[in-house]
Amino acid sequence: TTILSDRVLHMQESATIAMAKKSRELAAQGIDVINLSFGEPDFQTPQYIKDAAKQALDEGYTFYTPVPGYLDLRQAICDKFQRDNNLSYKPTEIVVSTGAKQSLTNAVLALVNPGDEVIIFSPYWVSYAAIVELAEGVAVPIVGSLENDYKVTAAEFEAAITPRTKAVMYSSPCNPTGAVFSRAELGAVAEVLARHPGIFAIADEIYEYINFAGEHVSLASFPEVKNQVITINGFSKGYAMTGWRLGYLAARQDIAAACDKLQGQMTSGTCSIAQRAGLAALQGGRASADEMVQAYHRRRDLVVAMAQDIPGLKMPVPEGAFYVFPDVTAFFGRTAPDGSVLHDSGDLALYLLNDAHVASVAGDSFGAPDCIRFSTAAADDKLRTAFERIKNSLGQLQ
Ligand code: PLP
Repeated sequence: TTILSDRVLHMQESATIAMAKKSRELAAQGIDVINLSFGEPDFQTPQYIKDAAKQALDEGYTFYTPVPGYLDLRQAICDKFQRDNNLSYKPTEIVVSTGAKQSLTNAVLALVNPGDEVIIFSPYWVSYAAIVELAEGVAVPIVGSLENDYKVTAAEFEAAITPRTKAVMYSSPCNPTGAVFSRAELGAVAEVLARHPGIFAIADEIYEYINFAGEHVSLASFPEVKNQVITINGFSKGYAMTGWRLGYLAARQDIAAACDKLQGQMTSGTCSIAQRAGLAALQGGRASADEMVQAYHRRRDLVVAMAQDIPGLKMPVPEGAFYVFPDVTAFFGRTAPDGSVLHDSGDLALYLLNDAHVASVAGDSFGAPDCIRFSTAAADDKLRTAFERIKNSLGQLQ
């Protein structure tokens, strides 16, 4: 007795958004909640980018834009690919969207037929499975091992391929684990792909700039598979522009044209002012990002040191992005001071919210029910307080 479609009824609510809602409710009761549930830079967008947006308004950029984005922005994105990733694209192979989230959705809707399997390297970003299911595809998560920093290997990838496999999706640097694929690891993935020319890879590189390991490698930069790779990127993380809603993809012409067609029926071109700001952001290069990355790096070190001091938390050291994703199975089956038993990471996340007043996200929505995710994109003193409180609360479990 519902009027709603199966499509939406079967869809899970975004776990990160649900947790943020709960933490806002506690905050509204006057409780000092430290919210480490959101994947959002705590920095303002750099001033030169804001100035470009103001100028765009004054210059009259208030009309519909071309569906795949302004040509000069797409050219600047091509220049960025050449400069940062050694990748040569034409503006007709770029589609600018309302965030990387829409770029991912465009790519999946352009490629996946009902029943097609999409292999998802896990732990994965919450929305991947929901987007595949929206396209009536079958999400096939394959889980990397803790020993390998949660990175799926090329051999594990190949073993998961079936005649129904249409695509594979992953993020590097990874949300939620912070793992970064090396050139050798991605090269091995490229070799597998090259043996399966009917399989496409959706490479989510949104955290490209937030990398403490050094080299960022684009899967598309292996020439033998360039035509099979859709590269996703955007401005939310590297340029601290989450609210502007600006992302993009690069893909061979027919796939890019399909995404353009889809977007033309759904949202049209994204916000004109955000696009002008994005152009300025790219023209400014990486300097503003590099400054923020220094802070993320310092916070990573701070949080890892504090987490390593908490008995029972097991995790690799993240090499990029701004999360830690410890395995928390040591606490399952333990009893809280109020007598309740913590059965899983969802119980643990709620316990930490209510007892430590720290919001996190349980790992099941990332395909990793043994883990819990904390964002490290918060001020140093907040992180310090949060992990003191977490240590204290976990110490009370019997
Ligand atoms: N991909 C990953 C791995 C993310 O973590 C996020 C945001 O949290 C996105 C894509 C979406 O980014 P955007 O704000 O550009 O839609």
